[in-house]
Amino acid sequence: MAKLEIEGEYGEARHGAFFAEFGNNGLDPDDLAAFPDYLICARAGELQTVESERILQAFVEGLPIKVLVQTDDLLEESMIGGDYLISGLPSRQLASTVIGFGMHYVLQSSSSSLFRLREQIARGLAYPGPALFSIFSGASGTRIPPYLTAAAAAESRAFPAFIYDPSAGPDWASRFSLDANSQIDLDWPRQRFDYEDEEHQLVSENLAFTLVDFAACDPRFTRYFAKVPRMKWSADLVPVTEFLAREPKDLSEKVPCLLMVDCDNRLQKVIVNDKLVREARRCAEAWRSLQELGGVHNSHAARLVEQERKIWAGQSRPLTAPEQKKTDATPSELPAASNSAPAEAVAERSSDDPYIETARCTSCNECTQINDKMFGYDANKQASIINPDAGTYRQLVEAAESCQVSIIHPGKPRNPNEPDLDELSRRAEPFL
Ligand code: SF4
Repeated sequence: MAKLEIEGEYGEARHGAFFAEFGNNGLDPDDLAAFPDYLICARAGELQTVESERILQAFVEGLPIKVLVQTDDLLEESMIGGDYLISGLPSRQLASTVIGFGMHYVLQSSSSSLFRLREQIARGLAYPGPALFSIFSGASGTRIPPYLTAAAAAESRAFPAFIYDPSAGPDWASRFSLDANSQIDLDWPRQRFDYEDEEHQLVSENLAFTLVDFAACDPRFTRYFAKVPRMKWSADLVPVTEFLAREPKDLSEKVPCLLMVDCDNRLQKVIVNDKLVREARRCAEAWRSLQELGGVHNSHAARLVEQERKIWAGQSRPLTAPEQKKTDATPSELPAASNSAPAEAVAERSSDDPYIETARCTSCNECTQINDKMFGYDANKQASIINPDAGTYRQLVEAAESCQVSIIHPGKPRNPNEPDLDELSRRAEPFL
């Protein structure tokens, strides 16, 4: 119509009826497909409510747009009391609302993972419809390099990666993926940390990287931590990972602490402010919701498995005398199939022997990765201790700490000469 107007050829009588059919908004999906996609770039920190609403409106109408929302800082001031929150709320809200529409491509990631996700980005750009890319750049203005901040945000679940691709299949299992995150079975990824103790001995620990660790990298959180002199280190200082894994009511006398390394490369212990611990609990909850969407520790599936297990247990025949005798054997002597016995059956075991409540195992691989000679799966892919002497007490304790459902009981040390038994026994206490 505009072209005809410019050329002076538009005639109401001749062309009016033809163009009237288009109406005010008369582009159907085939018409829209002929347009090139528009790339809209926005900074999450500068997005006004009205702009977010317009972007969402464009998604609802299926306009040919690809939207990149860049978040530079996950920190926000709390509305109550001037504290900081680590949330990245605007971009999170946008991504979850667009996923809720169910028809558009959504990719969320830290900038540190972009190269690894290049194929998924290309797929999103080629997606026949609107797509949202929500990226945390890490350029928050602190002295930490943005790449490291972005990687730490991903590792600590502060800004987890996910992809929702409606073209990948008809259901959530095929559309939604958390695979770009590290160790997706766990609340917090665990990595090996080596250091030298005061006797110049090498110590290796498997440490989780939590939201508290992420905050500890940010100078703006300095006031949330306080250094504890070495002479005041005590059993009441509980590692923050352990603190987060337990119920607040069980921790009234305990103080969460974190290992940090100072400018002279010396190991320090710092205690952590309550508010930050609450933030970390909230972050873990949000991550667990994502895990459910991604089919990890899915509560519906777990409930079904439990129902099936009960039916199976109800249909099992009573044990014969020789079989009964075998159930009195130590856990490591039990055949794989009998490890599916109900949890009450294991309650009577001696707490000196290590054992696993096998029936509750979620097959997350965490313990078998620590030592696959000590921990093994039965025919139902549920873990038990196949040889308690195939590793160290440290490995038993670390497996107990890693197990997300707290079903590994490390018992008492089996080798009195193993180093650090006092410390390990203290760490084992919650799992005895
Ligand atoms: S025992 Fe715990 S850590 Fe080991 S596989 Fe089962 S759930 Fe995972």
